[in-house]
Amino acid sequence: MDRSGKRAQFTPAEHKFLTGLRTGPANFEFKNWANTFSSKPMLYLAPQTEGEIIELVRIANKHRLTIKPIGCGHSPSDIACTDALMLNMDKFNRVLAHDPYACTLTVEAGVRLHQLHQMLHQRNMALSTLGSISDQSIAGAIATATHGTGMDYSDLSAMVIELVIIDGSGNRLKCSTAQNKDLFDAARCSLGALGIITQLTLQCEPAFTLHAVQTPENLDNILNNLSEVVYSAEHVRFWWFPHTDSTVVWRANRSSLPPQPSPESFLRDRLYGFHYYQLQLYKARFNPDRIPKLTEEHFSNRFDRRIEWVDDSFKVFNFDCLFPQYVNEWAVPWENAAEALRQLRIWINAQARDPKGVRVHFPVEVRFVKENDVWLSPAYQRTVCYIGVIMYRPYHKAVPYKKYWKVYEDIMRTLGGRPHWAKAHKMYYYDLLDAYPKFADFAKLRAQCDPNNVFVNDYIARHLLSPSEQADLLAAGDTSSKITDEQPKL
Ligand SMILES: Cc1cc2nc3c(=O)[nH]c(=O)nc-3n(C[C@H](O)[C@H](O)[C@H](O)COP(=O)(O)OP(=O)(O)OC[C@H]3O[C@@H](n4cnc5c(N)ncnc54)[C@H](O)[C@@H]3O)c2cc1C
Repeated sequence: MDRSGKRAQFTPAEHKFLTGLRTGPANFEFKNWANTFSSKPMLYLAPQTEGEIIELVRIANKHRLTIKPIGCGHSPSDIACTDALMLNMDKFNRVLAHDPYACTLTVEAGVRLHQLHQMLHQRNMALSTLGSISDQSIAGAIATATHGTGMDYSDLSAMVIELVIIDGSGNRLKCSTAQNKDLFDAARCSLGALGIITQLTLQCEPAFTLHAVQTPENLDNILNNLSEVVYSAEHVRFWWFPHTDSTVVWRANRSSLPPQPSPESFLRDRLYGFHYYQLQLYKARFNPDRIPKLTEEHFSNRFDRRIEWVDDSFKVFNFDCLFPQYVNEWAVPWENAAEALRQLRIWINAQARDPKGVRVHFPVEVRFVKENDVWLSPAYQRTVCYIGVIMYRPYHKAVPYKKYWKVYEDIMRTLGGRPHWAKAHKMYYYDLLDAYPKFADFAKLRAQCDPNNVFVNDYIARHLLSPSEQADLLAAGDTSSKITDEQPKL
C-alpha cells in the first residue's frame, strides 16, 4: 500500500476531477516559511467548495491516500508536510455572515489574518489579540493554538464560537457549545487531525486603538516583580537579550488617544536592524564569540530607549520577525516563568564562559496567555507563559541550535511545559497523555472522525498516534517515512 498514491489507479472521472483542481507548478515542492521542512505532494489542489472537499475525501478513502490542508505554510515543523494530496485553501476566502450586535464574523477557513483584519475593520470590529504576524490563514492559526499576549486574553482557538468541519468519512459537521460540543472543544485546536475546517465564526470586539509603550528594563527587576509586570497593562510581552540582562518590555492598552504611528526608521530598523544584523550573524557563524557583543550593540543601537505609538490594534500587535530562523516555544504555567528564565540564564552564562560553549541569538520572547477550555490548547485549564527561543539562519545558512534546544526543552518539561504545536518538539503519545487532561478523549475522537487515517501525516502519526496505532500503520505499509523522529533540514 502506498499512501503517497504513486500507485493509485484513478477512474477517468476521478482523473478529470483532480486535474480540474490542480494548482501551482508541475512538481510543486512545499517549503515552510523558514525553509526548514519541505515535501513533494503527489497532487497540489485548490478546492473551492465543500462539495469538492467531500469528493476528495471519498477519493482518498477509496485509494488509501492522505490529505493535508494547508494555510500559508508558516509552521516551523513538518506539521503541514505531505507527499500525498495537499490542499491549498486560498479559495475559501469569503465572509459568510456578520452579526454586529453579537460582534461576530463568520468567514471561510482559508482567509488570511491580514485579509480578516480588513474584513473586520470595514465592519468596525477587531480580534481581541493577535500574534506577531498576520500572514497565517485563520484555520492554520487555530489549528496550532496561535497566540498573542495578555493575562486576560486567550489564544485564537478560544475566539472560535462555531465551526464546520468535513471529517475523514466525508461528513459535514457543524459544531459549537450547543451542538457536537466535544467535537467543538477538540476541533478548535486540532492540528488538522480531525478533518478539514471549511468555515468558522469568531467572537470579536468593537474595533479599538492600542497605545503601545516599549521600555528598556533589567531582567532581574522583571523576574522579581513578575506578577506586577504581567498585570501592568492589558497586553504585556518582553524580549530578553541573552548574554546580557537587558530586556525590552512592550505594554499595550486600549486607548482613545489620536493615532501616532510607530516611530520606525528605515536606517535604524531596516538597514541596520535587518540587513546589517543579518550580515553580522552570517559572519558570526565563523566566529561565534562575536555573538554576545553583537547582541549588546544591537540592544543599545535599536532598543535602549523608550518609544510609544498609537494605532489600529492590528497594526500594533504585529512586529517584524526579521529573517528565517529555527524557533522553539513552550508554554509553562505562568507562575513558573521566572524560574524557567533564571535556569535558562544560568546555562547560557555558563556556556559563554566556556570557550567551546554555545552562543545564542537574541531574543528570548516571553508572552502570557489566559486559560481556556480548548482540549489541546497549551493554555487548557491554566494561564500560561510562552517562552520562545530563536536561532537565526542568516541567508538560510545553518547555525548550531540542537544543544540549546535540548537544555531549553528539559527546563520547560521539568516546569510543566507544553510545546507550541506548530513548532518541532519531542512530546509523544504518553507525554501528551500526562500533559493534557483531555488528550485521551481527543485521541478517541480522532479515531472516530478519521477511521482510515486520511488526515494522518508523519507529524500526526509521530505525536498523536498511540504506539499500537503507529504499528498498525507501519504493518500496513501506510506510512511513507520514519515516524519516530523529525528531521529538520539544516
Ligand atoms: C514569522 C512567524 C511568526 C509567528 N508568530 C507567531 C506568534 O506570534 N504566535 C504563535 O502562536 N505562533 C506564531 N507563529 C506560528 C504560526 O502562527 C503557526 O505555525 C500557524 O499554524 C501557521 O498558520 P498557517 O496558515 O501558515 O498554517 P500551516 O503552517 O500551513 O498549517 C498548520 C496546520 O494547520 C492545519 N490546517 C490549515 N488549514 C486547515 C483547515 N482548513 N482545516 C484543518 N486544518 C488546517 C494544517 O493541516 C497544519 O496542520 C509564527 C510563525 C512564523 C513563521
